[in-house]
Amino acid sequence: MSQQGYVATPPYSQPQPGMGALSPPLRGHYGDPSHSAPPAGIMKPAGPLGPTAPVGALPPGPPNSGAHQFGQNGPNISGYPQQRFPGPPPVNNANSAAPPYPPPSHLPPASYPSPGSASAAAQLGHQLGAMQIHDYGPGMASGSPGILAPPLAASFQGPPQLAQPSILQPGPQMLAPLPSTHNGLGATPSLPPAGRQDGLPGSGPPAASFPSLPLPGQPPGPGYPPQQGANYGPPQMPGAQLTSPAGFPGGPAQMAGPMQPPKKLDPDSIPSPIQVIENDRSTRSGQVYTTNIRGQVPPLVTTDCVIQDQGNASPRYIRCTTYCFPSTSDMAKQSQLPLAAIIKPFATVPPHEVPLYLVNHGESGPVRCNRCKAYMCPFMQFIEGGRKYQCGFCSCVNDVPPFYFQHLDHIGRRLDHYERPELSLGSYEYVATLDYCRNNKPPHPPAYIFMIDVSYSNVKNGLVKLICEELKTVLESLPKEEQEETSAIRVGFVTYNKVLHFFNVKSNLAQPQMMVVTDVAEVFVPLLDGFLVNYQESKAVIHNLLDQIPEIFADSNENETVFAPVVQAGMEALKAADCPGKLYIFHSSLPTAEAPGKLKNRDDRKLINTDKEKTLFQPQTNIYEALTKDCVANGCCVNLFLFPNQYVDVASMGLVTLQTGGTLHKYNNFQKHLDSQTFLNDLRNDVQKITGFDAIMRVRTSTGFRATDFFGAIYMNNTTDVEMAGVDCDKAVTVEFKHDDKLNEDSGALIQCAVLYTTISGQRRLRIHNISLNCSSQLADLYKSCETDALINFFAKSAFTAVLTQPLKTVRDILVHQTAHMLACYRKNCASPSAVSQLILPDAMKVFPVYMNSLLKNCVLLSRPEISVDERASQRQLVMSMDVADTQIFFYPQLIPIHTMDVKSETLPAAIRCSEERLSEGGVFLLANGLQMFLWLGVSAPPELIQGIFNVPSFTHINTDVTSLPEVGSPYSQKLRLTMSNIQQKKPYSMKLTIVKQREQPEVVFRQFLVEDKGLYGGASYVDFLCCVHKEICRLLS
Ligand SMILES: [Zn+2]
Repeated sequence: MSQQGYVATPPYSQPQPGMGALSPPLRGHYGDPSHSAPPAGIMKPAGPLGPTAPVGALPPGPPNSGAHQFGQNGPNISGYPQQRFPGPPPVNNANSAAPPYPPPSHLPPASYPSPGSASAAAQLGHQLGAMQIHDYGPGMASGSPGILAPPLAASFQGPPQLAQPSILQPGPQMLAPLPSTHNGLGATPSLPPAGRQDGLPGSGPPAASFPSLPLPGQPPGPGYPPQQGANYGPPQMPGAQLTSPAGFPGGPAQMAGPMQPPKKLDPDSIPSPIQVIENDRSTRSGQVYTTNIRGQVPPLVTTDCVIQDQGNASPRYIRCTTYCFPSTSDMAKQSQLPLAAIIKPFATVPPHEVPLYLVNHGESGPVRCNRCKAYMCPFMQFIEGGRKYQCGFCSCVNDVPPFYFQHLDHIGRRLDHYERPELSLGSYEYVATLDYCRNNKPPHPPAYIFMIDVSYSNVKNGLVKLICEELKTVLESLPKEEQEETSAIRVGFVTYNKVLHFFNVKSNLAQPQMMVVTDVAEVFVPLLDGFLVNYQESKAVIHNLLDQIPEIFADSNENETVFAPVVQAGMEALKAADCPGKLYIFHSSLPTAEAPGKLKNRDDRKLINTDKEKTLFQPQTNIYEALTKDCVANGCCVNLFLFPNQYVDVASMGLVTLQTGGTLHKYNNFQKHLDSQTFLNDLRNDVQKITGFDAIMRVRTSTGFRATDFFGAIYMNNTTDVEMAGVDCDKAVTVEFKHDDKLNEDSGALIQCAVLYTTISGQRRLRIHNISLNCSSQLADLYKSCETDALINFFAKSAFTAVLTQPLKTVRDILVHQTAHMLACYRKNCASPSAVSQLILPDAMKVFPVYMNSLLKNCVLLSRPEISVDERASQRQLVMSMDVADTQIFFYPQLIPIHTMDVKSETLPAAIRCSEERLSEGGVFLLANGLQMFLWLGVSAPPELIQGIFNVPSFTHINTDVTSLPEVGSPYSQKLRLTMSNIQQKKPYSMKLTIVKQREQPEVVFRQFLVEDKGLYGGASYVDFLCCVHKEICRLLS
């Protein structure tokens, strides 16, 4: 892989030295180098490009070459009616189709700025109530001279007068002033002590200084201590106007003057993610969300509601960082807001929502625009009495095929509008014709191959037996089409250590037969007939085999394993059977046996914090890249279950998993009695998942912008086709868009995502998702329509891609700078004039800083030798395929006070903020982040609660060496277990439960998840980060 340098582009309209834009340097580097030459042997079907696109003919080149080739950037036909598509009406045109619930609180109906609409302000005012600062929030600002926060902004400002001692009295939780101490966002040079004292600036060692933020004019005295949170703001200058930012030299640095001893900011006064989540729930939960309005911001991922497709894809399939795109690229650059969509094409739809309709045009196949190849959708405008239609994406006027003709009604809408899903819905499927199939032949149903590492340690710890036992039941639930009786998926079995064993399990055999392949340098498949079989037909032989495998290898002393030849063998078997499929590989050690892909132990922590740190995230040999390419070309999706006791080089072994759309599961130091349940749940879940195979995704856009970067469990062989050997219901691809022209505010920004894939029963289909966004020349509209959770998903994936090519410090710096820049742009262009010392956040991005800070503290971005390289590589990999809901809970875990739970009520207590301050000795708290779950027990937790949950008399009697709770039968136990299972149900990974007693050692692990606090391994507290960002904003504005 080539190492592209950091290509800094001036990120801002006024270039700042040392500030790089996040996007340009981070774009698509990973995997991109392979684009330079089309690999031999890759023969993909034409894909969503359709039959007109020659196989493999997409030339490498600048990202827009593909778009031009397909005419996406065709000229707009001027003078064409403004609202061209009959689908979702624009917001200002909503009539009877208005949503059945009030507009979201952050989209006030009044145009901006309108001092009257202050829902955000009121909300914030509530938050800030504790501060008792009269003019703290815009809602309370009526009597405050000189402080005019905008109605849409969350405004944080300092005390209005020089001294407000009644507000700033240090209380028990308040931070003492800390001269010269800088709590950096980067790594701290040494571990701060554990415990609540973490948050106290006086007790922890000074962190590394915040990168590249020298304040010109910063007074030499106390400097800028971020812990002095109360200082944003500083003493106000009455009447100061933002329009003369130069009037505030040094910004926040001034505020630490001797006249005002700095105090800690009350954590209750800064924006709370919990409050944002609860507010959205209270206004939108339980309602029906219809997708009929262009540019409508959906409910948060944390809000449960019923979604009804009325012309735009459900937010379950597509979420966007903003639902209003800037009309020009200059605006986009000015704001630095990423324009991205997070697409989860196979998202699970709850039972009470309508599944996708299947459209079948027979041999004619889907109707598509002649020029840009977009599929028929609600954005096509029928004209000339229904004989022609104009493409909403490229404006090309196409003939309506005769079989598809229909008359128009008085408003120009086809009479069959509501009878055809592709005319009235945002999402639907097409039956694909042979043109869309590999070699123009209908595909075979997929196959699953189970490949078990039978080396010494796996046999000894009982894992081999556990897997074999479980397979007997899990194979009963292979996925099948609803109308089918049995699954069409065939299965095969391989075991291996340093050689491979294939098994013939043909149904007419009395005994399974084993064939050994010792030549791992050029692995081949020794049998075709009898290797991949129908499970139901061969059940007896398969069960016989699964009983025998643990016996056959019971006395094996083989410690060494191979890995790449295993993947190769599985892929070759699928290729020989001419079908796509999944490999399930159960592997435990670094593959050190002599074979291709042999790995050496390179857990080299000396590289941490050097320019070479990025190599730890890259595979150590290029064999894995070649293997990945072959797997993708053959529709072979690799699921990897790792059971490491030491370093296994996840970065190398995981590559093929990540880029084939597979899932990585890692169980460190696997112990059967503790980890079996987690592993088996993952295995069952994975085998049963609905998956699309041999998939290729194409994202088309309307004129003026295009998809430029793709992040996910994907493979890119050119700049436009997103290849996924497999894509399951949990995998999301994040797509970034860039302008290449001006956008039309009337027609909006249209996006169509088409996924061509093979179903579990071997049908070739197209899944289409469409969404329409608004465009505006007003920056305020962008910020109003943002979605913080989607922004974080984008930033996480782009940063985790960047770590492959950039020094980590650079990546962290870019994130911080871009955060400050987005907020500064809002401040400068959208907020009402106010003192620069106020921190003003757009309402829709109110909690962006706390999430961003949590991302910065993630172990992937923290250069810390204490964290295993494998752990960082695996977390990086997991995040890359996450959807918005997954990244939300991953970066801001759910923390629920169990002791306040009402066992008689259906509802759960509201979650609380992830800070140690929120815990109490008398409480019991449940924390979940999507990968792990913790039950934290305070030392004074009520005995009746302990009895109810654990069936033991007291705290000291609780056994923490378990990973599940006993079934006690008490109401507490039932409710808690139900709660845990409800949280688990929505998540793709089985979360292992850890029971943590307050003040016992494992608490250290738990505390890492309290993301509002200062990080155990470095990383700022929320308050500190907010101060740092504020300082940076002031610098940008001055
Ligand atoms: Zn078109």
